[in-house]
Amino acid sequence: MTYQSTVRYDSSRIHAAAMYCSDGRLGEHFDDFLQNSLNLPRYDRLCLPGGPACVAGHPQAHLEEEGVVDELKFLVDVHKLRRIVLLAHQGCAFYSSRLELKEPRLELVQRADLVRAAAFVHRVTGLGAIEAYFARLEGDRVRFERVEV
Ligand SMILES: [Zn+2]
Repeated sequence: MTYQSTVRYDSSRIHAAAMYCSDGRLGEHFDDFLQNSLNLPRYDRLCLPGGPACVAGHPQAHLEEEGVVDELKFLVDVHKLRRIVLLAHQGCAFYSSRLELKEPRLELVQRADLVRAAAFVHRVTGLGAIEAYFARLEGDRVRFERVEV
């Protein structure tokens, strides 16, 4: 079986990456926000459960953190990254299951983690252009709110 995608291939890089949770229910929303609001077509993706939570210093994500550091350094060196966008989302199972948190504390920890993750990413990559957003569920829609980091 073969399948030819109708999506045109563009080999130019945008020199930006986004780190977000691998939760597939939000994949298209993350794409929509990054491509259409932030104007970052073809951005590089770092997807893993919890997204930026894995580089916010939680001992429960120590193994993931090591992997992400390698991946970030590779993207900065080879893909010449200049900008990194961190995204957290409401009701993330990484926080409710792995960290055993409940609302309203869950969102407070997510927001603090975005600040911690931004500092961490800055430290390991040396990049200054790091920004963060929180994806809030509103019925069957998703609203992206900027978080100061
Ligand atoms: Zn999640």
